[in-house]
Amino acid sequence: MSFITKIFGDENQKVLNKLQPIVDKINQLEGKSKRLSNKQIREKTEEFKERLKNGESLDNILPEAFALVREAGKRTLGERLFDVQILGGVVLHQGKIIEMKTGEGKTIAATCPVYLNGLQGEGVHIVTVNDYLSRRDTSWMGPIYNLLGLSVGCIQHEGAFLFDPKYEEPEESNKSNQLDSSEIKTVDVKHLRPIPRQEAYLADVTYGTNNEFGFDYLRDNMAWELDQIVQRELNFGIVDEVDSILIDEARTPLIISAPDTGSTKMYYQFARVVPKLEENEDYNIDEKMRAVTLTDQGIDKVENILGTKDIYDQERVEIIHHLEQALKAQALFKRDKDYVIKNGEVIIVDDFTGRLMFGRRYSEGLHQAIEAKEEVEIKQESKTLATITFQNYFRLYKKLSGMTGTAATSEEEFRKVYNLDVAVIPTNEPMIRKDTPDVIYKTEDGKFKAVVDEIKRRYEREQPILVGTVSIEKNEKLSNLLRKANVPHQILNAKHHEKEAKIIARAGLKEAVTIATNMAGRGTDIKLGKGVVGFGGLHIIGTERHEARRIDDQLRGRAGRQGDPGSSQFYVSCEDDLMRVFGGDKIKNIMDRLGLPNDQPIRHKLISKSIESAQKKVEGYNFDLRKHVLEYDDVMNRHREVVYKKRRNILENFQNLKKNILDMTKNEIRQIVLAHTNSEDKSIWNTEEICEVVNTIFPLPHDAHGKLLEIVKSRTSLDRIREQIISYLTNLAQKAYEEKEKEIGSNLTRQIEKVVLLRTIDTLWIDHLDAMDRVREGIGLRGYGQRDPLVEYKNEGYKMFQNLLASMQNNVVYSFYKVGIVKKESPMESKNVQMQGAAKTSSEDSSKGASVSSVPVRKKKIGRNAPCPCGSGKKYKYCCWTKDHGYK
Ligand code: ADP
Ligand code: MG
Repeated sequence: MSFITKIFGDENQKVLNKLQPIVDKINQLEGKSKRLSNKQIREKTEEFKERLKNGESLDNILPEAFALVREAGKRTLGERLFDVQILGGVVLHQGKIIEMKTGEGKTIAATCPVYLNGLQGEGVHIVTVNDYLSRRDTSWMGPIYNLLGLSVGCIQHEGAFLFDPKYEEPEESNKSNQLDSSEIKTVDVKHLRPIPRQEAYLADVTYGTNNEFGFDYLRDNMAWELDQIVQRELNFGIVDEVDSILIDEARTPLIISAPDTGSTKMYYQFARVVPKLEENEDYNIDEKMRAVTLTDQGIDKVENILGTKDIYDQERVEIIHHLEQALKAQALFKRDKDYVIKNGEVIIVDDFTGRLMFGRRYSEGLHQAIEAKEEVEIKQESKTLATITFQNYFRLYKKLSGMTGTAATSEEEFRKVYNLDVAVIPTNEPMIRKDTPDVIYKTEDGKFKAVVDEIKRRYEREQPILVGTVSIEKNEKLSNLLRKANVPHQILNAKHHEKEAKIIARAGLKEAVTIATNMAGRGTDIKLGKGVVGFGGLHIIGTERHEARRIDDQLRGRAGRQGDPGSSQFYVSCEDDLMRVFGGDKIKNIMDRLGLPNDQPIRHKLISKSIESAQKKVEGYNFDLRKHVLEYDDVMNRHREVVYKKRRNILENFQNLKKNILDMTKNEIRQIVLAHTNSEDKSIWNTEEICEVVNTIFPLPHDAHGKLLEIVKSRTSLDRIREQIISYLTNLAQKAYEEKEKEIGSNLTRQIEKVVLLRTIDTLWIDHLDAMDRVREGIGLRGYGQRDPLVEYKNEGYKMFQNLLASMQNNVVYSFYKVGIVKKESPMESKNVQMQGAAKTSSEDSSKGASVSSVPVRKKKIGRNAPCPCGSGKKYKYCCWTKDHGYK
């Protein structure tokens, strides 16, 4: 045991010891709960709510509430929560992460803190990794909450449900449940009554995936009407499989985007050029950093091929950027490993979980570059409308906790990034699984041969075997080999969650051979079949070490649940990615020198050590990457908070926006006046210019300039005069406002106020997202010498944000008074705009998004690549764009 784990272990024990008295108390209350009738249980809930209202704390109520949940679990599911589950529940309530081994019953353990916190009536979210698990857990735990008197909602990618025991699904949708006829039964997904999304969020408890919760948050902040908003304030969240969600998936932010009309020709062109370049001459690859850089020679070569010698510097930067993405797509991103092609689309494979990330796209043009390389249709470049990282989304909860079978090795990241402590909960029964040390082969083929032999041997003894692979590609390779060896098997790719859950549930039956990528079937329990205990239980074979130890532990954890027998063995080869990048060559050389044949393995402490240190290195590197994403998103996060708050205010104070706009007008007038009267010599004040500018906001009366001259003439202090000018003009603005309102009516005016404000905020915000993205890229390209790019990004971000706020005022004021004239720009128009690109958790159709979409129309916008309207002949983005957008 290392020093660290010893300390951690001791600390952990201390934390748990402190909680033991609470568990004891809950045990003492068991008899009392037992005597309650079902009706009395529900009355208890009302009583608790009352007591909370009267100021009693949740902690005070905890023992009684937990004892009541235990009783409800016994009556509905016939399961009595073990003490360790109660203990885990207490830690969850405290807002920490529990590591509780697979199969220990985290689903039911969570019902205790969910119930307790649900009593407050502010909502509790339980976050799962896929839609199937949300449905399953709603149906599974629904009866407990129902008996207790709490409502349970479930949000899905398409649709939302409420758990209602009286509701029976129509025949059709029940088919999948009826297939369940073998020895092992999975949870029936039923009693889910379709309801509007808002109602699912109004339930006391809501199950859903991280994606759905996150996208709803973003969509709510794009809403144009209050009643389109579905979420309440985020109160308490429990994240199941928390390592998968807060660590593995946290590398890809959520993005809602809409297509932009960009040029796709360039991508195809570059995809054809790139294969003509030579590695190490024209470009360099750094596999460890996953980076590709062009050499000068390479750039020259490309320019010759393209015939673009004399180009602007900035244009060149853009070309280089595209080229490097094309190179990256070619050299570093492999089909069926990093992504798959499905229905002519490039779909990212999460390299940690093997899951297909439908709807997610690589950023900065890389996705398009891969599409070009694969010669599939390039999805139009899309414009980001809203984005957030999971880290920042989950920080919005007042209280957050999580659970998983594997958290301890990532304890540092949970603490540093999320401020979440990890507590390891002991197992209910002692763990007796046998984990044997890794064996290492010289070649991958040698390794796979050994794996197949081993599977066959155990299969013939009728022992169930679960084989984990790191990718779909490896899955298929192994499947072919097994077919040749006449071993029947099941193959799971984390593609169809529900179907695969049913298969994995049977992975512990006699003779079952199941091959799965590491995310497939996560969350589904593997019970052993009859007689299997006698064969030594489930045997786990890992065909490669994963980048993170955590993922290997997950695989191992599939065996040995609740005191079952079981065993595990990892097979490694010098040709595995992890080994290749981190010192596999050395080991291979040693094996060559020893004259070992390909199919003869070695087992050595040194090697196991070097594998583990490689894993730690990669873990650290990936942690840094995620931290990096977060540090940059933190800058944006502050901007997002401010802008979303402004937006929400507008929706909520829809009837009082007139004052906002008049205030803005006043500020704007003040700025104009001060700018033209800054001299101490009032004879050179430019009153004419003041009138001209203000006249572009609203029409001034003909005598306005005369009036200003009169005011200037007066013999009072310069400051007084300035104020008088301001108030004269402000009064005129107010008058213009009133006239406009009279002309078009109050109702329409209220509408226009809202539309102008929202449209301005949204338009500029979207541009800001884009601009910040480019700054980030630019900083990467420029190379800041000694300066810290993040600091540069923050500085520039700050300036841009100040400009954004200024432009918002400016745009509102300069457009509001004119909108009435352009009658066509009615708020209705915004309804026609479509939203696209909300990422999906499953391959199903995603038309749902359309109903909430109301993205501002940007009609008169000049394309960034269009010729600049000033007539310079340059492209707009290299000419007046920055100026027009308020950036220096
Ligand atoms: P985890 O999420 O921790 O991997 P699950 O919540 O899927 O585990 O539960 C695993 C299995 O253990 C389920 O079949 C569940 O019914 C069973 N189980 C959980 N808690 C208990 C209990 N207290 N008594 C009996 N069975 C239990
Ligand atoms: Mg689970």
